[in-house]
Amino acid sequence: MSEKIYSLVVIGYGGMGSQHVRMLEKVDRIKVTGVYDVNESRLNKAVEKGLKAYHSFESVLADPLVDIILIATPNDNHHEFAIQGMQAGKHVICEKPAMLNSKEIEDVMKISQDTGKLFMVHQNRRWDEDYLAVKKLVDEGTLGDVFYLETRVHGSRGIPGDWRHEASRGGGMVLDWGVHLLDRLLLLFGEPVQSVYAKLSYILGHQVDDGMKAYITFESGKTALVEVGTTNYIPLPLWYVTGRYGSATIEDWNMNGQVATLDREDTKDAEPIVAGAGLTKTMAPRTKKEESITISPVPRVPSDVTQFYINFVDAIEGKCEPIVKNEEVLSVMKLMEAIFESHKLGQAVYLNK
Ligand code: NAD
Repeated sequence: MSEKIYSLVVIGYGGMGSQHVRMLEKVDRIKVTGVYDVNESRLNKAVEKGLKAYHSFESVLADPLVDIILIATPNDNHHEFAIQGMQAGKHVICEKPAMLNSKEIEDVMKISQDTGKLFMVHQNRRWDEDYLAVKKLVDEGTLGDVFYLETRVHGSRGIPGDWRHEASRGGGMVLDWGVHLLDRLLLLFGEPVQSVYAKLSYILGHQVDDGMKAYITFESGKTALVEVGTTNYIPLPLWYVTGRYGSATIEDWNMNGQVATLDREDTKDAEPIVAGAGLTKTMAPRTKKEESITISPVPRVPSDVTQFYINFVDAIEGKCEPIVKNEEVLSVMKLMEAIFESHKLGQAVYLNK
């Protein structure tokens, strides 16, 4: 018997909606058949591509040929579209941030359970090569036990577009980029967060945050600095990761960076070096000459983000668990809520109490 091909309609055919259509061309088990967008010119673009234009969301829901809706509208529409979609019998792929708060995610989780329809959030940056390289270093213990890391994205072009500037539409950088970095961080350390101290930035004068710095402590004491900036004209590395026996940096998405690992413990002090206006043994850099350290390139991990869609189909068919679990999405949302709260209070917020 031939395998079912699932018919998918994209809701919101803007930047990310178009990207999904391109990506789904590589996925055999899903066929994009149509698009719904409030903007007529976007619908015309879809028709030019041979897709069916739906002029209302209700007409998508009423179409029995549609199996899956993919929500790629601004963030404030995700909740209502997801709920109505599942109630009409459609499975739902939803762009990040899934929802605007944890209550909305809990609503959607309940409807998913009640209807038996799959709801999965597109946390596509789990397939980024920089993250996968760090995950490999952490999982394989290359650096020893990793006790601290920094994960960040630094840009200098401010907040793009229109709706991303508006609080009511779910704008701001915590929800836009923070959601990716936090999602990956929780998977990397795989343990509950104890506390967060966060400061948001409003340098550009919008009603929403244009950046964030969150200092997160996990229950074992591991810590991480998570940073998003949009006015950083010299970007700091995407990753700085350090363990008892090594450190690694990844500078950029071209995977420039290095891994430094200790070959052997030195029992004697280093010779003092002249540093600035003084002398130091403590901060004397390790040199290759000492042969106590090995510098290697960042490991490369092959990755294919279309696995996301393949997993979605397999999860619909009960062949595997969804790769992005709604409980994980909820934990990230609760962490983002704690970040907003910490900024507002000007103090650390404790979770899971
Ligand atoms: P965009 O502004 O480029 O596109 C949004 C589209 O939705 C537009 O065509 C707009 O006309 C349409 N739209 C607006 N309101 C609508 C409504 N009520 N009904 C139907 N259509 C509507 O935005 P974007 O950058 O494509 O972002 C869309 C979503 O994708 C957001 O949730 C965003 O966070 C997410 N996104 C995810 C990634 C990622 O890497 N996962 C990257 C970019 C954006």
